[in-house]
Amino acid sequence: MDTAIVWFRRDLRLTDNPALTAAVAAARHVLPVYIHSPEEDGAGAPGAASRWWLHYSLAALSATLRDRGSPLVIHRGPAAAALRSLVAETGATGVFWNRTYEPAGIARDTDLKTALRELGVEVQSFNGSLLFEPWEVLTGSGGPYRVYTPFWRQCQTRLGTVATPLAAPARLVAPPKPVSGVPLGELSLLPTRPWGEGLAAAFTPGEAAGQAKLVRFAAGPIDEYKTARDLPAETGTARLSPHLHFGEVSPRQALAAALGAGQDPARRAGGAVSHETFIKELVWREFSYHVLYHYPHTVQDPLDPRFRDMPWTDDGAALRAWQRGLTGVPLVDAGMRELYATGWMHNRVRMVVASFLCKNLGQHWRSGAAWFHDTLVDADLAANTFGWQWSAGCGADAAPYYRIFSPILQAERFDPTRTYIRRWVPELARLPDSLVHRPFEAPAAELAAAGIRLGRDYPAPVVDLKASRAAALAGYATMRGEPGLNPPPAAPRTVRRAGK
Ligand code: FAD
Repeated sequence: MDTAIVWFRRDLRLTDNPALTAAVAAARHVLPVYIHSPEEDGAGAPGAASRWWLHYSLAALSATLRDRGSPLVIHRGPAAAALRSLVAETGATGVFWNRTYEPAGIARDTDLKTALRELGVEVQSFNGSLLFEPWEVLTGSGGPYRVYTPFWRQCQTRLGTVATPLAAPARLVAPPKPVSGVPLGELSLLPTRPWGEGLAAAFTPGEAAGQAKLVRFAAGPIDEYKTARDLPAETGTARLSPHLHFGEVSPRQALAAALGAGQDPARRAGGAVSHETFIKELVWREFSYHVLYHYPHTVQDPLDPRFRDMPWTDDGAALRAWQRGLTGVPLVDAGMRELYATGWMHNRVRMVVASFLCKNLGQHWRSGAAWFHDTLVDADLAANTFGWQWSAGCGADAAPYYRIFSPILQAERFDPTRTYIRRWVPELARLPDSLVHRPFEAPAAELAAAGIRLGRDYPAPVVDLKASRAAALAGYATMRGEPGLNPPPAAPRTVRRAGK
């Protein structure tokens, strides 16, 4: 083949990129292309924080590709028109891409394959984003999984079959004539307000930064992952989620790094448990893609159909207070402020703020998912939909309806020194540890000593935690057609978390 197009999508990297490697092997000239077509991405179209990330990730990819010999050509969508015109301009006879798994992308790619093949163009697609294809891991009866543990057990037996990550091609040969495209800046991905500064302070988009982060994490912190990952005040997790979402790091690379750490005899004995825990998290990511692939309606509708009748409330003021981190419930506010300031939130706190929105404030999980989608740099249709349905109780392997996270107990357990709350809610910093996570229960003298007047310096709670918990249980009972308000007596005592 003389010229092949490599269509970059959620695989903004040169290493372990099967489509790129195959194109380099098959063609003399390789044209790397990115097509900006958010209108074709459906519910997965990037939100504001993701657009910020995408801008810098494309800039990084573009620089690396230029160094290797074939600069990135950027086009606007629709993808079919862009690819047709690129094929006509370059005479390319092959188009290579790595698969995506969101419903809109699958539909678009299926049509495109047919259209390109009708033009006589060879199309090859690859798995560059998952450890296992969603259709490969199935139950004994050949259906999809809805519960994580058996899904994990099957994936665990297949980990040895995951391909070793590919090296980046040493050199790319560009088509002989320059190819038309639009400058990156014309995509207007960056926010017009200076919001990106906080994101830039927290993250560096791009393959080099993502790979360096993976190497650092696998060199030490992964050994402590099992315990440190639940403490939001610490950097105990990999913080690789945006790099994985945009494909700057592949799951195969993350798996190989974790398995490699496990083979180092000098590592602490306890490290092995942590390494496996980390691999299990990568498999939670797989599970969320598995669920989205097999149940694409979950983008809009609950996996558990009983939740269609759930009496959600619609309170714009409460939703805005939640979005802005002004609910008067410190752990919730800390998480929401971390999200807005950095584009990321710790998983433990994601579960707490989601439970609070759906169960204490009674708001639809879709409202929370939409805000997360717009403000997270790792916003990912599969993981976000899964996380929200899990939190609301209506998804796969979901938190039971009666499990309502107490933001007070969660703070006591996972922010024992209240460092996280003090960092993000500084107006409460002078309260003692025993009160900083529940200022609404503080005696007037303690509040005065800390310089706080509730309702002026920090909001009074937008909702009564106990009363709203009871109301949520009542709502769930109605939905389930049950008379009682109380959870069943045999409620499990351990709190499972999404991703655990
Ligand atoms: P680590 O703990 O270091 O885990 C390593 C990787 O495993 C992560 O980067 C991620 O790719 C994957 N992973 C870990 N936990 C989960 C999980 N529960 N579900 C799916 N994948 C997981 N994750 C996203 O990537 N995008 C989202 O939009 C998203 N929305 C969420 C919404 C809610 C309500 C909840 C409860 C969770 C959501 N998560 C989402 C999952 C999880 O919170 C993040 O993946 C994690 O916090 C990312 O931080 P990390 O890279 O340090 O994770």
